[in-house]
Amino acid sequence: MKTEKIPYKIYLEESEMPKSWYNMRADMKKKPAPLLNPATKEPMKAEELGAVFCDELVAQELDDKTPYIEIPEEIRNFYKMYRPSPLVRAYCLEEKLGTPAKIYYKFEGNNTSGSHKLNSAIAQAYYAKKQGLKGVTTETGAGQWGTALSMACSYFGLDCKVFMVKCSYEQKPFRREVMRTYGASVTPSPSETTNVGRKILAEHPGTTGSLGCAISEAVEVAVGSDGYRYVLGSVLNQVLLHQSVIGLETKAALDKYSIKPDIIIGCAGGGSNLGGLISPFMGEKLRGEADYRIIAVEPASCPSLTRGVYAYDFCDTGMVCPLAKMYTLGSDFIPSANHAGGLRYHGMSSTLSELYDQGLMEATSVKQTDVFEAAEYFARVEGILPAPESSHAIRVAIDEALKCKETGEEKTIVFGLTGTGYFDMVAYEKFHDGEMSDTIPTDEELAAARAKLPKID
Ligand SMILES: *Cc1c(COP(=O)(O)O)cnc(C)c1O
Repeated sequence: MKTEKIPYKIYLEESEMPKSWYNMRADMKKKPAPLLNPATKEPMKAEELGAVFCDELVAQELDDKTPYIEIPEEIRNFYKMYRPSPLVRAYCLEEKLGTPAKIYYKFEGNNTSGSHKLNSAIAQAYYAKKQGLKGVTTETGAGQWGTALSMACSYFGLDCKVFMVKCSYEQKPFRREVMRTYGASVTPSPSETTNVGRKILAEHPGTTGSLGCAISEAVEVAVGSDGYRYVLGSVLNQVLLHQSVIGLETKAALDKYSIKPDIIIGCAGGGSNLGGLISPFMGEKLRGEADYRIIAVEPASCPSLTRGVYAYDFCDTGMVCPLAKMYTLGSDFIPSANHAGGLRYHGMSSTLSELYDQGLMEATSVKQTDVFEAAEYFARVEGILPAPESSHAIRVAIDEALKCKETGEEKTIVFGLTGTGYFDMVAYEKFHDGEMSDTIPTDEELAAARAKLPKID
C-alpha cells in the first residue's frame, strides 16, 4: 500500500485506460426486464429494434450476458483526445467544510460538449458509420447530448439531425450554434416537419416542448429516411455500457493508491452517468466481493426513483418507442421548468431501476435552490463552475461530508461531476436574483400521470 500523499489529481497513463467496457447486467442474477413491443406486448426482437437503432448497438442493448465488450480502437483513439478525465481529490472542499471525510470527484466536463455524453456519442456515431449509414437523428433537451453527438458525427463524417426542445432552443442559442459549428442541423421541437410534431402542436398550441416530444419526432424522421437511424443519449443499456468508461477509470485511479470508497454518489436523469460511474463497483457488489453505499440523486421536481412506480411505460410522449420497465412518473408527466434540463426525464434506466428495486442502491431527491447553493459554494471553493445537473451530486456529497463532521467518521466519498455550467448562466442568474423557486409535484399530480400508464399483464 502506498503511503505518499494522494495527489490533487489522479491521472491514468494512456496504457492504463480501459480497453473494454463493462456490462453490469452480466453479473446481475435477476436481469432488467426486456423492452416490449407496444403493439404485441412481446419482447422486442433484434430485427424490430434494427429499424430504429444501429445493428451493433441493438446487439449491445440486448446482451445481458457478456461482461466485457472490447472498445474498438477508433473509439479508444478518440477517447485519448479528452480522456482519461481527472479524478480530483477535493482537498479545498474538505478543508472549507472542516470534514474528516475524504472527497473525490470524477470530472467529465473537460471537453467542448462540456459533459460525459461524448463518451457514448462517439461510440454510437462509430457504429452508425461502420454500418455504412448516412446519418443519425436525435433529440436534445438542455443541449449537452446534441452537442456531443454533433462533435462525434463530424469526426466520422455523418449527417446529424437534432430536434431540440423548443424552450431550450430559444433560451440557449449558443448551444445551438455550437451544434451548427460541428455541422448538425437543429430543429426546434415540436415542429411542423413531422406528423407527430404537427399533432402535438395541434393539441397543445404554444407548447414549448418536452424531451418526450422531441424523441418522437427524431424517431419518426429516422424511420422514414433511408440510411438514417435514431440514437439516444441516456436511459438505454448501450449508453450505460459506454459510460462504464467513467467508472472503470475511476476504479483504476483509486486502485493505484489502494483507496476504497465508502459512498459513491451521482446525479440521475436517465441514469447513464450514474450507471457508468458505479458499474465496476456495482459489479463487485453483485459478485459479493465488496460493498459500497451507492446514492442516486434526482431533482425533487422530477423524482422518478423516489416517488415513481416500477412499471412498464413509454419512453416518449408520442408513444412510438418500445415500452421499458422502469421507475417512472408516467410518460404523460411534464416536469416543471427545473433548470437542470438533463434531469427532466419521466423514467429511469431499466438497469438502475432493477438494481434500486433489489435494494442494491439508494436514491434521494433534492430541491433546486439547495442544489444551486451547493453549486455556487463548490465553484468558489474548487474553482469549477458545475452544471446544474452535476450539482445535485455535489449537494449530497457535501451533506454526507457534513454528517462525517458530526460523527467524526473518515469516510471516503466519490461523486460524479458530470459537466460544466457555462450554458446555464440564466439559471445561475435566477438563483442570484432570488427568483428561483422550488416546484415539487403534489401526490395528486403524480397519481394523475400514473393513471395513464399502459396496462401490461
Ligand atoms: C445529461 C446530463 C446528465 C443526466 O443524464 P444521465 O443520463 O442521467 O447521466 C447529468 N449531467 C449532465 C452534465 C448532463 O449533461
